[in-house]
Amino acid sequence: MPSMHTANRSPIPILTYHQIETAPPRGAAFRSLYVPPRDFARQMALLKRLGYRGLSLSALMPYLNGELHGKVVGITFDDGYLNNLDNALPVLKRHGFSSTCYIVSQRIGRTNEWDSGAGIAQTPLMDAAQLRQWLAGGQELGAHTRHHVHLPQMDAADCIDEIARCKTELEAVTDAPVRHFCYPYGEFTPGHSAMVRMAGFHSATTTKRGRCRSGQDLMQLPRVPVLRSTSLPLLWLKLATGYEDRRRAS
Ligand SMILES: [Zn+2]
Repeated sequence: MPSMHTANRSPIPILTYHQIETAPPRGAAFRSLYVPPRDFARQMALLKRLGYRGLSLSALMPYLNGELHGKVVGITFDDGYLNNLDNALPVLKRHGFSSTCYIVSQRIGRTNEWDSGAGIAQTPLMDAAQLRQWLAGGQELGAHTRHHVHLPQMDAADCIDEIARCKTELEAVTDAPVRHFCYPYGEFTPGHSAMVRMAGFHSATTTKRGRCRSGQDLMQLPRVPVLRSTSLPLLWLKLATGYEDRRRAS
């Protein structure tokens, strides 16, 4: 049994979700990014049963900074799908969990147009009123650039525009502060991290795998992917063991 002392220093997992929806038929592109609503409900119930509290990035910050200690998990959703509001929010509310949903500010109320070239089905994204419902439900919004761009393929001025104006556009829509960022496609350089910090964000999440530790670079937070194929035993391994930490090399 770990002592209380070591338990307090436990790494902090931040879960990554995309769509909370029944998966499209076999063979569809990026089918793994759909977690069926029933599975999501079971996963949140497991967190609760294990004694974890699911938290937004803002609520998680004191833990990441080492100011607070406890059994906590970050919950994040990338891209802002309407199915997050419809299928995830009721479950999160039931458990008293918060989460952060990363929004593409020029695609509010539209679809995941950036995926069209990859053959991924077009799916509705939350509109302005729905983003406000998400906030009213005790959840948080973060920024995911204005157009879901590949930052390393753009010049610096355009990157700053995509990062900083996403924040101001989202704040204008919701009248709430936007303090957390997520790199589209997980693509970034140290220069982009500096731009995110200068734009006033408090954290940035990546697609690097692993659990966070206090003292972690807040502009390069690793996360733990939850996929359609993630069973409950595997989710437990990802949360409570070094399973993800060993996958962070990539
Ligand atoms: Zn994305």
